[in-house]
Amino acid sequence: MALEVSLEGADPAVCRILEGALAGRQVTAEEGAALLAARGRAMYMVGAVADELRRRDAGEEATYVVNRNINFTNVCVKQCGFCAFSRDHRKEEGYMLPAEEVARRAREAQELGATEVCIQAGLPPGMDGDLYEGICRAIKEAAPGIHIHGFSPEEVAYGARAAGVGIEEYLGRLRDAGVGTLPGTSAEILDQGIRDRISPGRLSADGWESIIRAAHGAGIRTTSTMMFGHVEEGIHRTRHIARIRSIQEETGGFTEFVPLGFVHDEAPMYADGRCARAGADGPDVLLTHAVSRIMLHGIIPNIQASWVKEGPALTQLLLWWGANDLGGTLINESISTSAGSGYGQLARPSEMRAMAAQEGRIPAERDTGYNILRRFGGGEGPEALDGADASRFGSYAELVRSGRFRYSR
Ligand code: SF4
Repeated sequence: MALEVSLEGADPAVCRILEGALAGRQVTAEEGAALLAARGRAMYMVGAVADELRRRDAGEEATYVVNRNINFTNVCVKQCGFCAFSRDHRKEEGYMLPAEEVARRAREAQELGATEVCIQAGLPPGMDGDLYEGICRAIKEAAPGIHIHGFSPEEVAYGARAAGVGIEEYLGRLRDAGVGTLPGTSAEILDQGIRDRISPGRLSADGWESIIRAAHGAGIRTTSTMMFGHVEEGIHRTRHIARIRSIQEETGGFTEFVPLGFVHDEAPMYADGRCARAGADGPDVLLTHAVSRIMLHGIIPNIQASWVKEGPALTQLLLWWGANDLGGTLINESISTSAGSGYGQLARPSEMRAMAAQEGRIPAERDTGYNILRRFGGGEGPEALDGADASRFGSYAELVRSGRFRYSR
């Protein structure tokens, strides 16, 4: 049976771009922006092509990692307009987890089946140059088998400055202390004009790229990210993706690309009117993931959908719009939660598996480097983290309220 659907009104240029993508032609930033603007039936064509390319790049598995986020301090010298997590060091809500507490959390995570801890935090004033290394050594002592995915390029720049050494030397020190991979956060949008509007004083776009290249050059792989849905236009997103693509063509060091929707609720730049947009709308979220897949096809095989930004229902839908990975269980998600994301701090392994299985995908637990640890066929029993009482992990709100780990210089 031939099913004929009229594509009347669809821009013929969109059809040509999609045909080219299916034939293996690289999509330019300008073409990607045209795909982002597609609506109506043309929009579904973009999704269908992204889904086909997802199948070719990553197959039918939907992966996730069992991990824990440890955001060891919210005290930060910067004031990024999108960040509701950071606190000035004089504020009562400022906290700093000592290395022993970070290590305790890592050990607890490992005992519950986690293979990774994700370590990211604010930039405390007057930081000791060896703080990050000390934290890593404490983690490795408490949980020797756990992978440390830690320190964004912004933190690497800050840590190197505090230690008084160059970036390459500092990366070597972090690696010696136990860091396995870096999160490619602090990328936001790699356009200096946009960065100057949303986060003046932050690491520059060129600075981000140069630290990522230095990490890849040192054999340290990283993720790559993009925060979208604030003051940027479609072309800024697709130029960002094209820039990520060209870095990957040279270094091969990215494990994944993660589009992160802007959470506006508590963001200072939304409250003060610098950004009037309340994040991306539904079609925009779908298309951004689809265009990421189409532009990165054959270059970066893993496109992650973020349940903490988009919620579980939209995340499932994104599995049909180019995404093949569901991210991590997180356990103590704080950064999106503080920005107003209402999707909770923890996704249990059974929830990850259900999200995948309900869409007919094969749920698979992976490690940070996308090695498959287990495939699930259904009928498996609960894991340790499935049965854990979430109250034992504490929440971000409790942490800032209790004053137990109040920051003091
Ligand atoms: S995004 Fe990071 S660097 Fe910027 S204010 Fe928040 S914690 Fe600080």
